[in-house]
Amino acid sequence: MEKGWEGLPYRPISEFYKNRFGGKVYKIPVSVVDDCPNRRGLKGMQTCVFCDVWGSAANSETVGMGLRQQIEKYHGLIAKKYNAKKFLIYFQAYTNSFEKIETLRTNFEVALSYDFTQGLVVGTRPDCLSPSVMRLWQEFHERSFVAVELGVQSFFDDQLEFMRRGHTGKQSLDAIQKIATATTVDLGIHLMFGQPNETDAQILETARIVNDLPISNVKLHNLHVLKETPLEKIYHDGQFQPIERQAYADRVQMFIENLSPRIYVQRLAAFASRWEELVAPKWTSDKMGTHQFMIDDLRRKGSYQGKCFSASTPSDVEIAARLKSFSVISPSS
Ligand code: SF4
Repeated sequence: MEKGWEGLPYRPISEFYKNRFGGKVYKIPVSVVDDCPNRRGLKGMQTCVFCDVWGSAANSETVGMGLRQQIEKYHGLIAKKYNAKKFLIYFQAYTNSFEKIETLRTNFEVALSYDFTQGLVVGTRPDCLSPSVMRLWQEFHERSFVAVELGVQSFFDDQLEFMRRGHTGKQSLDAIQKIATATTVDLGIHLMFGQPNETDAQILETARIVNDLPISNVKLHNLHVLKETPLEKIYHDGQFQPIERQAYADRVQMFIENLSPRIYVQRLAAFASRWEELVAPKWTSDKMGTHQFMIDDLRRKGSYQGKCFSASTPSDVEIAARLKSFSVISPSS
């Protein structure tokens, strides 16, 4: 039986926004940094396998535009298209804590200077957190609203190695605890399914780990292949096969059914915003079709968020032991 949050089989983030802001809010994605520790090759790091030259930004055409120009351009477009009134400015591309504090502060001030801005959303990585960055987030959260989106992607080190993330699952767990201790910002994580050698047990364990974390939301992606990414070569060499749509929907079902109903869901699948850059799988180019397919699939199976959830509160030691119990399988690349 469908649980029914706004008629959906999962708890959508829009419910949180409605409660917090009194109505629908739209995100304006902006690019203000053009670097990250991986791309810079710090400590031998490499570009993440899935990351394109735009640093995973939604709007590549903003490259070279100032922050005000970007905000005003996309505010105009979105406001006109959806009659939108309320916006969050989403510092999305690359790593938005990998910058001087004063520069970050100036950017936040610019973003909040517009009447329509309800708050800020900051995308970053688990290993790029300094006390001063967290103090800055907290300062702006007390003035307005700050949501942090952490690119966790996986808690399993074999998968993180395949993706060349340059951080471990343990670093993500530590980062989440650090942010939750030092701040009261709204905290969400990004997860990617469709990894090589991924097992059902890992999906279940991911849901169990997430349930016990001090986060408010998750964003789900399928691992897809974009042009001019390291994964494109791995794919053409025959060492990576993207997950099929139904297999991915089965993963989503398993995760969602075991996810606590307290956690909001931002997204069920990735989509290629620059579809001409998509190499594979083709199904991920159809944003609305994919989104609807995931929802229809959950409904068809009588599935909904939390259907198999049971509350438990394992200790940090138990979580660490459970993660360790997964043997590390060498990725195929
Ligand atoms: S996904 Fe983020 S951390 Fe990885 S290479 Fe791209 S911008 Fe850098």
